[in-house]
This record gives sequence, C-alpha cells and structure tokens, in this order.
Amino acid sequence: MPATKIPPSAKTSVHPGKTGVDLLHNPSLNKGTAFTNEERKKLGLLGLLPPRVSTMDQQVLRLINNIRRQTSDLQKYVEMIALLDRNETLFYRAVQDYIDELMPIIYTPTVGAACQMYAHIFRRSRGIFITKYEKGAVKQVLKNWPHQDVRVIVVTDGERILGLGDLGCNGMGIPVGKLSLYTACAGIHPEQTLPVMLDVGTNNEKFLNDPLYLGMPEKRIAGKEYDDLIHEFVQAVQEVFPKALIQFEDFANHNAFRLLEKYRDEICTFNDDIQGTASVTLAGLFSTTRLTGMALKDMKILFHGAGEAAIGIADLIVGAMVAEGLTKEEAKKRCWFVDSKALVESSRSDLQDHKKPYAHKHPPVGNLAAAVKVLKPTALIGVSGMAKQFTKEIVEEMSRINQRPVIFALSNPTSQAECSAEEAYVWSDGRALFASGSPFAPVEHQGRTYVSGQGNNAYIFPGVGLGVVACAAKRVTDEMFYEAAKTLARLVTQGDLDTGCLFPPLTKIREVSAHIAAAVMSVAYRRGLATEPKPRDMLAFAKSRQYEPVYKKYA
Ligand code: NAD
Repeated sequence: MPATKIPPSAKTSVHPGKTGVDLLHNPSLNKGTAFTNEERKKLGLLGLLPPRVSTMDQQVLRLINNIRRQTSDLQKYVEMIALLDRNETLFYRAVQDYIDELMPIIYTPTVGAACQMYAHIFRRSRGIFITKYEKGAVKQVLKNWPHQDVRVIVVTDGERILGLGDLGCNGMGIPVGKLSLYTACAGIHPEQTLPVMLDVGTNNEKFLNDPLYLGMPEKRIAGKEYDDLIHEFVQAVQEVFPKALIQFEDFANHNAFRLLEKYRDEICTFNDDIQGTASVTLAGLFSTTRLTGMALKDMKILFHGAGEAAIGIADLIVGAMVAEGLTKEEAKKRCWFVDSKALVESSRSDLQDHKKPYAHKHPPVGNLAAAVKVLKPTALIGVSGMAKQFTKEIVEEMSRINQRPVIFALSNPTSQAECSAEEAYVWSDGRALFASGSPFAPVEHQGRTYVSGQGNNAYIFPGVGLGVVACAAKRVTDEMFYEAAKTLARLVTQGDLDTGCLFPPLTKIREVSAHIAAAVMSVAYRRGLATEPKPRDMLAFAKSRQYEPVYKKYA
C-alpha cells in the first residue's frame, strides 16, 4: 500500500509523522469510511476507501446490523473486539448508543465464554503480559506500553475469573473488558487505561494440555515468589505511571483480601470484587428499603457464599448500619453466611480469617434451606458462584417470612446464577425484590411485567475511577464506596422501582458515573486525599473530564 506523507498542516496539528495509511491502521485515529473527501485528498487516502463517505451514525447502524446478524454472543464479542482494534472511536460510540445490548456482549456474561475460549479466538494482543520470567525487569516491560499518561490499570492473575475459576492467562479478557467499561460508562480516556495480565501460571489442566493455550504452560507460582512479583509490579507502576489507580480484579480470595490489606493504605488501589460489588449491592439494598419501608439497619441478611463479594458487601453494610445508628457489633450480627460447608458460626474450627468476624454464636446449621428457616432473613444474597442454589423451596420460604423478600442472585455468568428472574418472581408470586449479577430479560407474570435490575459493578467502578482520576486521589477508601452507593441509590426513580428495577437504567450510566465521580471527589477533598486543585463545581468538573467518542477533524 502506498504510504503518502500527511501534509505539514495536518501533521503538526494532529499526528506528527503519520501517513494516511497509518491513520487507517491506528485504532485511535482511524475514521474508516467516515474520512471526508477533503481529508482523503489531504491525507493520501484517495482510492484506499470505498468512495461514498459515511456519517458516524451510518457506521454505527452498519455495525449494529452486523452484530445482530451474528448467530452467537461469542461471535458478537469477536466482532466487537475486532472493531476496538480497528476503530476505537466507533467502538465507544456504538457501546454508548446501544449500551443495553452491547454491555452483555463486551462484558458479563459473554466475556466469561470469551475468556474460556481466549486462546482459540485470539486475534490481536491488547494490554501488557508479565510472567515470572520478567522478574527484575517489570519496569522495562511497563515502559514498552506506548502511552505515558496511564491513569487506570486493571490487573488480574486469572485465578478466579467470574464464577469460572482458574483460567490463567485466558483471564486477560476481563481487564480488557473492564477497562472498556471505564471508558464507555464513565468516559475515562482509552489512552489512559492499561489492562495487565500477571501470568503466574495456571493449575487448570485443560489449559495446560491445550497446545493453543497462550499463557505460560506451567503450574502457578505461590508464596514468596508470587508476592515478590506482585510487589515488583506495584512498585514499577509507581515509577512508570505514578498517577495510576491499580484495580485488582478476579484474584482468588486467599490473595485478594491479603493484597488489598497490604496495599490499600500505601498506594492508590482497590479491589472491585470486594469493594465495587459491595457498593452496588448496598445501593440495591437501599432501593429495597423504599419498597419495603424497612430501614437497612433493621434488615437481616443471609449470604450464600462467604468469599470476596460476600465479605466485601457485609463490611460495607456494617458501615452503613453504623451510620444509621447501630454499633459495629450489632451491625455485624445482622449479617450471616452459609459457605460450602455450613452456616458460618463460632463453633467451627475450619474458618478462613476473613469469615471469622461474622462467626456468630449459633448452633450448627447444615445448609442454606435450613439456615433460611432458622434465621428468617429479610434478604438473601447469592455470591457463591454456584448455580441453582436458590431453590423453589427456599424462595417460597423467603416469601412466607417476608411480604417483599429481597433476593439477589449475583453469581456470574448467567449459567452460575442462583436462580433466574423468572424463578424468583414466579416462586414468590411476584413479590420478590430481585437483582442479578448477569442480566435477565423482563418477566411476564400474571399480567405484570417485571424488569429486574442487574447489580452490575459497572454502575460503580467507572464512576469511582473517574472521580479518582479527576482529582488525582492518592487513595481509594471505603467511604468513597459508601458515598457511591448512596449516590447510585439516589438516582433510582420511583418509575424505576415501579417496574421492579432497583437500579437506574443503563442508558443513564454516563450521567450516573459523573455523579458518583463527584461524590468520590468530595470524599477525597474532605479527607485530604486529592492532589489537584479543588474545582468549584465537582459534578461539572467530572463531566468536563469525560471522553466523548467523536471523530477528530483532520484539516
Ligand atoms: P470467592 O471465590 O471469593 O467466594 C466464593 C464463596 O462461595 C466462598 O466463600 C466459598 O466457600 C463459597 N461456596 C462455594 N461453593 C459453595 C456452596 N456450594 N455453597 C455455599 N457456598 C459455597 O468468589 P467471589 O469473588 O466472592 O465471587 C462469587 C460469585 O459472585 C462469582 O460468581 C462472581 O461472579 C459473583 N460476583 C458478582 C458480582 C455482581 O453481580 N456485581 C460481583 C462480584 C462477584
């Protein structure tokens, strides 16, 4: 292909040293068929594109029609990632315009299948991969990234991808997907985001035996070797990208809690599985209080699962209940857990540290159904990653105990949900206040349509990230997630609640994220954690920092 040099005027204003062909092959500069005739002439693109110029709206229409023609969600995912690699601006325009339709494709639930198939659908590399063989050279590896002003890093070691377990290097789909939501939902500039895979091996035999697997085909490292690599990565980020927020994502809980404790007061970091989940779930619970009339502090919550999500949610609920007047001990006693073995209670000697604060004095109870009967909870929250655990018997029992039983089936992806929206509404005779981790279609039951909400972390983390970036906060605190939850709940309208939805529609996500960013900034300034001058109007400032997917004019 001929490589025509861009004339000096265009060169200096937008992209020094690039040719017209470079622009077509650069996803952040490419406009595809939307290059105008004038631009085509100036940039040496004449003859390299079909002659008729498209508007961006026409390109979006072409894209969405093409997506809808695909026969599986995984194929749709592949198409979307191909677009991201080709024309980033159009990707984000399309995701923003069709957020309800495309978010489940680029993130949960489809991203689960995409990770499982990562090595087989791989087309083009995205992000940074670090293995134990880069020990001592992690800084150099980070410096290979072409963008300097990185502000948000999502890093995983692939050990607990969604509810799918150890996917090793295949887990890279998660940081990529999550960062695309930081941009689509909150407007963090794509060039300020960096996905990182810490490939420390995998214990997944299927992948170890797969010749196409793209990660290190070795067992996971652990102990000091693992900790040292993580530490080197964290330190290297401080040097290479000193303003970057590090979001730990989908680490197994034995590492997730530890790493959060180790780094939360040292660097700008959070764990979305623990803190982001907590915030969106707390917002959902706040919404239920408007329908039940029962204050949060009076609720009794039974968790199925006692891992990162469950303990994170409980810790934030405790903080919220304390804000409503309970003591910490009283608040903790309103949170109960059933793990893979039995009810978490004080006579058990097999409890991991993170469960111990919630091991209340109680006779042993063997399973969830029995725990519901004995404890009579007002809310049931499923975060075990185990499908179909909220049986008809359990939902009926919850509906017998409560006029409006709160049932959150948060395990992802859809295949792992504790029950479906339809099951929750039918078994509770339409009384359940239901939210799920992965989206469910509206349910018709006895002449009514129920639009259940998705307790999607995407309501929270992008806005938190935008707030942190906007004021260059030094730390991310639990108070920020509490304020984010209150802000999200405040944005739920009576109309949303009337349809059964405990969250605002996803179509408002950029507005929601801006409000959350403003709330996060307020905390940062109040606590002396912000390092940028304080803006007069935080909401307006947050909005002004949002990236808009519109084409540049090359003239
Ligand atoms: P985790 O591995 O830290 O915790 C899982 C917990 O479930 C552990 O305590 C384990 O003991 C328990 N468990 C396993 N089998 C069980 C069984 N049969 N009965 C009862 N408990 C059992 O994982 P996590 O990060 O807490 O995530 C759990 C699930 O929640 C995943 O499916 C994840 O996708 C989902 N999740 C959803 C959201 C959301 O919807 N916003 C956010 C985060 C996590």
